[in-house]
Amino acid sequence: MRKKIVAGNWKMNLDYAEGISLFSEIVNMVRDEKKGDQLAIICAPFIHLNSLSKLGGEIVKIGAQNAHQNDSGAYTGEISAKMIKSVGCEYVIIGHSERRQYFAESDELLAQKTVKVLENNLVPIFCIGETLAERNDNTYFEVLKSQLEKGVFGLSETDFSKIVIAYEPVWAIGTGLTASSEQAQEVHAFIRKEIAAKYGEAVAEEVTILYGGSCNPKNAAELFAQNDIDGGLIGGASLKSRDFVDIVKAFNS
Ligand code: PEP
Repeated sequence: MRKKIVAGNWKMNLDYAEGISLFSEIVNMVRDEKKGDQLAIICAPFIHLNSLSKLGGEIVKIGAQNAHQNDSGAYTGEISAKMIKSVGCEYVIIGHSERRQYFAESDELLAQKTVKVLENNLVPIFCIGETLAERNDNTYFEVLKSQLEKGVFGLSETDFSKIVIAYEPVWAIGTGLTASSEQAQEVHAFIRKEIAAKYGEAVAEEVTILYGGSCNPKNAAELFAQNDIDGGLIGGASLKSRDFVDIVKAFNS
């Protein structure tokens, strides 16, 4: 059975007090309201990680939003996977389109980061997605295939089996434009087919593939009901406890 996951990505939002307060609300609501065995994760800015993992890491898992590809060294301003692991984190988002776009993170760099995250016994949530131009000119399957091949298909089968994939069409992130459930399912099925071709059916069946891009309490249940959609990576709506927890509960509706 694939893991069902709803992961929030707070991005560069919330000061320390605001983060503690929102996370405490989410933990209390998830504790009282979540049914079933799906996982809730919050991927927070680095300054929050230590405190959040102590506050409720059993109920809501903690993730980081990036990690450096080396263990340590003269990389001013950077944070390593080893450091992230040391504060009780379990997940790291790798390859978010904002990292690819604003920080020029290449597929090759993201492959290195993924390896480092796995070496530190953290789970990478590896993001792929096409731009609007790539969707409109119908090259999106090639783009996604190339992101998979360069980013994660160099992993051994054992390592690949540990990762989570997130399909996040760039045109749907923070825009209010959501992929329709048919569009998202089409891509998720394609991703699973590519994984099956590379690693075999059994591995492909077990990989959790999340959808991200303006997911909200109104559209989550329909998206999550699709065969190949195993949950969501949630940006804006993860900054409101009620919305985030309603998306977590969308699996049960
Ligand atoms: C994201 O940034 O991962 C994301 C999906 O953002 P939003 O939900 O705000 O579109």
